[in-house]
Amino acid sequence: MGVSPGRPVNTDFSSPDEAQLAAAICPVNAILAQGKSALVDPGKCVHCLRCRWGIPTPMNWDAGYEWARPSAGNGEGATFPASFSKSLHIMVVDAGDCGACLHEVKQLNNPLYNMHRLGFFFTATPRAADLLLVVGPVSENMRGALQKSWEAMPSTRRVMAVGSCAISGGVFGRSFMCAGGVGSVLPVNFEVPGNPPPPLAILHGLLMATGRKPATKSEPVAEGRS
Ligand code: SF4
Repeated sequence: MGVSPGRPVNTDFSSPDEAQLAAAICPVNAILAQGKSALVDPGKCVHCLRCRWGIPTPMNWDAGYEWARPSAGNGEGATFPASFSKSLHIMVVDAGDCGACLHEVKQLNNPLYNMHRLGFFFTATPRAADLLLVVGPVSENMRGALQKSWEAMPSTRRVMAVGSCAISGGVFGRSFMCAGGVGSVLPVNFEVPGNPPPPLAILHGLLMATGRKPATKSEPVAEGRS
């Protein structure tokens, strides 16, 4: 069901020069060269594919979709109690999204992904929301609304950053009009990397947040160069 664009994963090259080349071509510094290895930060990667198509020896690529992970700092122990596992209400806030991640989130409601059958529901009011799902970097115009939404939620609230911009600021970074990732404004508990993450990756995040799926490994295992 569904499709995944895949994503680059940590790659061992045959020489340090190849690893340096991969790091140098990344427009958002998502690749760190360490000797012959190139390590990818999924929370920064914007899926430009340069490290796959733009260099002689491409990075390894993971074709899966189980990308969600607990956030560093606030993710440990943040899984919802079991009573939420079949009924979780989600408020979505677009904090400055380009439209891509929001579009993928909207797909969860269609008959293909049909998140209702898994016990996930959207709500427009923060007082009825268990999870604040944020897409986009935090623009200054949305900073106040985002904070007010979080403050109005019940105390069992959790925050999920969906997409590289929500996690790290992505290509927008920080500026006088942008606070960067959601973590600079609110305590983020879960992250779903991707630019945008496909609906299945977001579903993986929701299942992980409710304890029904394990988190992805922090360093994805390379599956072979292609
Ligand atoms: S796909 Fe693009 S942004 Fe992602 S790691 Fe490769 S070069 Fe960097």
